[in-house]
Amino acid sequence: ANERPRPLVAGNWKMNGLRASSEVLSEIMAGYGAGLRNRADLLVCPPATLVAALAGAAKGAVGVGGQDCHAKASGAHTGDISAEMLADAGASHVIVGHSERRADHGETDAVVRAKAEAARRAGLVAIVCVGETQAQREAGETLTVVASQLRGSIPAGAMAADLVVAYEPVWAIGTGLTPTAADVAEVHALIRTELGTLVGEAEAGRVRVLYGGSVKPSNAAELMAVANVDGALVGGASLVAADFLGIARVY
Ligand code: PGA
Repeated sequence: ANERPRPLVAGNWKMNGLRASSEVLSEIMAGYGAGLRNRADLLVCPPATLVAALAGAAKGAVGVGGQDCHAKASGAHTGDISAEMLADAGASHVIVGHSERRADHGETDAVVRAKAEAARRAGLVAIVCVGETQAQREAGETLTVVASQLRGSIPAGAMAADLVVAYEPVWAIGTGLTPTAADVAEVHALIRTELGTLVGEAEAGRVRVLYGGSVKPSNAAELMAVANVDGALVGGASLVAADFLGIARVY
């Protein structure tokens, strides 16, 4: 709780990006100067088709991650990609349990936990996403929903070295809406407390807890200054190098 984890600014490109998009990574790398490198880690999560190319181009200066993985290492699962394959392609991280996967693919907490366990097995850091819907917030259920998602989605024995948590209110994703700083503080404090129960106090203090949902250069300073916010998971704004760097430069 005393020393803050090193910030992580992660870009989630979602289903966007063709080979020409490697230019965005080049621009990010060009703008990621020594000063900023000393203060924050950057990660780009392109579609799986681009992981190998971007990881090759990034040479470890900027991390490259996947957006999802299967729980199994290999087998008869047409169209799926394992954590081992992402690691082999040069990924260091993988997002699991993004609300779009929970909604579009019916991923439950148990599925998300199995994916996070797969990430650890493959030597990847799992970025586990949680967050309430608009209806849940209006019903006053935000804290119970987030706590329950954490308990269901975080692998037993997870360590700060293999786990990042992202709080992404579903209603804030891609909408331009963001919670107030006070609301973010409340949820992030709850996440830190729940992590303490799940992985132990010492590890919990070192887990990076990101805020995601309509993060832009214009609101990043306020959001990143909130207690227990250790970085951002950025969707739309991560597709434009200047915007992604503008967010990172609040550190
Ligand atoms: P957004 O997406 O920044 O476009 O709101 C965030 C996310 O879904 O990770």
